[in-house]
This record gives sequence, C-alpha cells and structure tokens, in this order.
Amino acid sequence: MLQTAMRFSHTLLKEIIQTGDTVVDATMGNGNDTALLAQLVGTNGLVYAFDIQEQALQNTENRLLESGVREQVRLLHQGHETIETAIPEETALRAAIFNLGYLPKSDKQIITKPDTTKQALDALLTRLVSNGRIILVVYYGHAGGEAELALIKEYSQQLPQEEYSVLTYQFINQKNNPPILFCIEKK
Ligand code: SAM
Repeated sequence: MLQTAMRFSHTLLKEIIQTGDTVVDATMGNGNDTALLAQLVGTNGLVYAFDIQEQALQNTENRLLESGVREQVRLLHQGHETIETAIPEETALRAAIFNLGYLPKSDKQIITKPDTTKQALDALLTRLVSNGRIILVVYYGHAGGEAELALIKEYSQQLPQEEYSVLTYQFINQKNNPPILFCIEKK
C-alpha cells in the first residue's frame, strides 16, 4: 500500500539520518516528528525543535520524556524564522522537517505563514550538508493554506537543479485536500 505523505516523510528521514547528526523540527506541534528525529540522532546527536505555541512545547516535552529521548532535543519556544540566529551558521544540518498548517485539535487561527516559512528555508539551505534533505508536508485545506502551498511550489521550483533535487509526492484522486510532500535534497 502506498505510504501517506506523513509516513513517507519519515521514510525519507530514516534513509539519511545517522546517529550523531544535527537536525531540525521546524514545527514541533505534538512532537511526533521531534520524537522520531531524536531516536534517529541518538544521545550524541542534536535536534533543534521550534514552535510558537506553549502547548506544543508541553506536549512535545511529555512525548519525549515518555520515549526516553528528551536529552538530545533543544525545545525552542520561538518561530522557525529565527533559525538564522538560533542555529550557528557553521552547524552542519543533515535534515529538517516542516508540517505546515495548524496544530490538530487546537486554535485553527494559529497557522504557519509563507513569509516566515521562506525565512526558515533560506537559513536551512545554507546549513544543509551534501545529500541532506528538507522535507515539507504541506496541509493546505484551511484559510491561508493555498497561499503557503503556492510559496512552497514557487520556492522549490526555482532552486537550481545543479545544486538541488526537488521531489513532490501527492495523492491526486483523494478528497479533502490530503497533504502534499516536498523534499529538497542538496547535491
Ligand atoms: N509536526 C507536528 C506534530 O508532529 O505534531 C505538527 C505540526 S502542526 C501541523 C503546525 C505547527 O506549526 C503548530 O504547532 C503551530 O503552532 C506551529 N507554528 C506556526 N507558526 C510557526 C512558526 N513561525 N514557527 C514554528 N512553528 C510554527
């Protein structure tokens, strides 16, 4: 059976992340991706996780403690647009993941936005190692979602093919706007 965009995002992360790596969860939410990243990098690796909602930090902290992987994660109560200053420029990042949209079962007005997502992508690309990946799972069925999807498409399509490979993964016959996955891999 074909993998959902969410499951495929985890497959793409598992393929490249090794113990000791430094990686980013740009939208921690309930910590599902953060927990996976923490397991993959191990105790000698580092995960930077960002969110603007206090509730997300609490949920993620609990999730990490339950899984015994809290130690290797830096939980940052700040937007991913601060990656430029929060993560030193010389840091070599193996991977980053975004789940764009709103936190399920939470305030649907608090959504990721094109401008700040773009700022985060700019900062991540300069820190990404060769063969590193940035994965975006874009939910776009809510108000404001189409604008963000348009930004991601435009941003990733204009990346030079000599430097980056870009993949999209999408179910095109499903109802209710299933998320679309983008993967940017640095050559
Ligand atoms: N990956 C998460 C998980 O595993 O549960 C789900 C993420 S949810 C779709 C999107 C999250 O992005 C929300 O928790 C929201 O608070 C957060 N968010 C919105 N704007 C943000 C920003 N500028 N920087 C970081 N996180 C942001």
